[in-house]
Amino acid sequence: MPSAYRIRPLAITELEGPMPGLTYLSGFGETATFTGYIWYIEGSEENMVVDTGGKAETLSMLGFPAKDMQSPEDALGRLGLKCEDIDTVILTHLMFDHFEYARKFKNAKFIVQKEELDYARNPHPLMQYFYMPIQNLLDEVNFDIIEGDKEIIKGVNVLLTPGHSPGSQSVKIKTEKGIAVITGFCCIKENFKEGIWPVTPPGIHVNATQAYDSMLEVKEIADIIIPLHEPTFAKREVIP
Ligand SMILES: [Zn+2]
Repeated sequence: MPSAYRIRPLAITELEGPMPGLTYLSGFGETATFTGYIWYIEGSEENMVVDTGGKAETLSMLGFPAKDMQSPEDALGRLGLKCEDIDTVILTHLMFDHFEYARKFKNAKFIVQKEELDYARNPHPLMQYFYMPIQNLLDEVNFDIIEGDKEIIKGVNVLLTPGHSPGSQSVKIKTEKGIAVITGFCCIKENFKEGIWPVTPPGIHVNATQAYDSMLEVKEIADIIIPLHEPTFAKREVIP
């Protein structure tokens, strides 16, 4: 068992959009780049990723003009892997841009929070937009349903960090340079900059105050914060 892991950010999609889509009540008139990733956790005996990514076509159809950067097959191929080699997918949440490619990961178990799965089956009308494209996957994939914080393997834990969605989970990973946390909510580095508040909740949320509390928790425990859509990681081979 390794003492520390590394994370390989595999950029799948990219889009330009209005900043307040990510930063609650902030950045009006500014645009931001949002990148969609599969995060490969290197150093485990099993092949483990966080999220599957989703299609640019779906993002564009729903009003976020996006482009595909690479397919999951090509992204994992660069690491000498196939989608079917992946044993475990930790799902930060079930909005389509994190889960839509699930079918490609034929042999994986998908770790999800119970609250998120329940919500995805019956989302509020305001959030249906994000969950409709994945409805047909909910009875198809092999879920490992958990409730609350849990150790997945030694050095990799999930933390229930709700607010963006009801069962968003962040992934805490032990690295050589301290604790890295992949946020369970859609944000970029700007969300963690000191501004009006010490953190800025995601523009999309079911509960902004709960999201704020979850973000503060992540900020406190992480030596390395990995915001789920931060574009600068697309140029990084590995973290740390
Ligand atoms: Zn997202």
